[in-house]
Amino acid sequence: AAPHTEPLRVEGLRKAFGGVWAVDGVSLAVPRGAILGLIGPNGSGKTTLINLVSGLERADAGRVLVAGRYATALRADARARLGVARSFQAGALPAAATVLEAVAAARLERSRGVAEAEGQGMAVLHRLGIADHAATLCGGLPAGLRRRVELARALARQPAVLLLDEPAAGLTDAEKRELAAHLRALAGEGLGILLVEHDMGFLLPLATRVVVLDQGRTLYDGPPQGVRQDRRVVAAYLGE
Ligand code: ADP
Repeated sequence: AAPHTEPLRVEGLRKAFGGVWAVDGVSLAVPRGAILGLIGPNGSGKTTLINLVSGLERADAGRVLVAGRYATALRADARARLGVARSFQAGALPAAATVLEAVAAARLERSRGVAEAEGQGMAVLHRLGIADHAATLCGGLPAGLRRRVELARALARQPAVLLLDEPAAGLTDAEKRELAAHLRALAGEGLGILLVEHDMGFLLPLATRVVVLDQGRTLYDGPPQGVRQDRRVVAAYLGE
């Protein structure tokens, strides 16, 4: 992506399932270097919003801009080329591939061949501190390592915006601290991150901004420090 474009902007996005608005007019922006936390009760529309951004679902109204380009009409693969990467989908890692093969495969379509893709893949593995595991098979990796390989696969595509769905789930406290440090460093280089996460202890210190959804609408959009003070957020979500 061009160096100074905004990674992600969503304007007036709406999506209904069977007559019910899952996402009902949501607007948000993820500037360069931002870590936007997306929270809300179950069924509030977080997954649908992420799906509308990645292109897995098509919006009924509104628009999605990725790296300053209109993505609303594009399929998921075309949005990925514009700069959307999603990580931590269940079962995404090929069990029979090595860590390096899995990461290089994600890189291959932007490379001039396997050797270049593997070189770039190794650079990403070094970056995330997992180069020692390059030759390990993905099947049977422990959870913390698996999470980092999934992150490496997303980063190998050199995205403008990274969509993360519950990245802290199942991690130990030490692994959470390590993941948070990596995400901060990546944002520090200009990546935009949109993070759905229930673990407030992980999310609030990490997020630069927080959006709270309730019944498909934005209940709160502001600094993480204000989330626990907002009476409506406490009533709809934190107090549950
Ligand atoms: P969250 O991720 O915040 O738990 P979701 O985006 O999964 O919320 O769901 C928002 C609403 O949309 C819920 O009422 C849910 O039942 C509904 N919904 C989500 N996906 C579908 C689908 N594919 N078909 C029908 N209803 C759906």
